[in-house]
Amino acid sequence: MVIVMKPSATTDTIQALVHQLEQDHPEVRVSITKGVGCSILGLVGDTSRIDQDKLIIHKDVDRVMRVQEPYKKANRKFHPHDSAVRVGDAVIGGGGFTVIAGPCSVESREQIIDVAQSVKASGASLLRGGAFKPRTSPYAFQGMGTPGLDLLLEAKAETGLPIVTELMSPKYCELFEEKVDMVQIGARNMQNFDLLKEVGQMSKPILLKRGLANTYEEWIMSAEYIMAAGNENVILCERGVRTFETYTRNTLDLSAIPAIRRMSHLPIVVDPSHAAGMYWMVEPLAMAAVAVGADGLMVEVHNDPACALCDGQQSLTPEKFRRLMDKVTPLVELMGKTLT
Ligand code: PEP
Ligand code: MN
Repeated sequence: MVIVMKPSATTDTIQALVHQLEQDHPEVRVSITKGVGCSILGLVGDTSRIDQDKLIIHKDVDRVMRVQEPYKKANRKFHPHDSAVRVGDAVIGGGGFTVIAGPCSVESREQIIDVAQSVKASGASLLRGGAFKPRTSPYAFQGMGTPGLDLLLEAKAETGLPIVTELMSPKYCELFEEKVDMVQIGARNMQNFDLLKEVGQMSKPILLKRGLANTYEEWIMSAEYIMAAGNENVILCERGVRTFETYTRNTLDLSAIPAIRRMSHLPIVVDPSHAAGMYWMVEPLAMAAVAVGADGLMVEVHNDPACALCDGQQSLTPEKFRRLMDKVTPLVELMGKTLT
């Protein structure tokens, strides 16, 4: 349920209403969003016992709406303005455009520092790199593990770029809490509900990738799990979905950006690398993502793609990434945004 307060409602009268609602309905939790000109109360839990007619006649209440969707905290009705999430010095959403770049996997000190320096010089504001990798084959490179996190920290110290890396198991939550700036939940774990509940208790922002074959609603419900557990700093990442087409690794679903924008206030970025699976398709898909209104990009960059231990075929060289940034930047400005 959403209660839109009148512009004349004061902090005291709003607090009094919240207090009364919480007292009369202990099964309901109330959050307050201060908008431009008015405040909105978002009620989560079983609101069936709340008498809507009684609320409507309250002198400070403008409107009362029942929210049909199963997602509440992530719902734009609860929070009409775009959310912006701070990650170190970077901000994702809220009118800027943020580029996250780096290799699929951290492979060595030289590799990660070299890539971090070059992507920073080209305008990226976050460094990505997997230390724990979700691989289809148990015989494939599984990532460097904890030493890979330490190399990411060295690259951060060298460049100042905040780091984002994938968490696959709740057993590493504490380690990630200590070491990383943003936690990535990969496509394969988008509906690992125990993991979502755990990261919901972390203080770090969560980059939630869309599952391989999940609907927008399922994806937002996964964000809701994280938010319901207490962590409201969630960023969505469209990375392509499974379709009948096999030419590309996945099919980039550009409709997701305007659709999610309407459904939710959460920022949304696009990963053209895992969608395409081919380096030469990354730039046109990145341009399309900017044009359709994404809040940012996540791009795989490797200093020697031919020798990469993972996803070399879709990785840009630092030089190709620089050219991508040169093309993307004027389009970002045309969209009325600035590169953050
Ligand atoms: C990744 O970003 O490293 C990754 C494994 O992506 P996804 O979960 O989208 O497949
Ligand atoms: Mn990859």
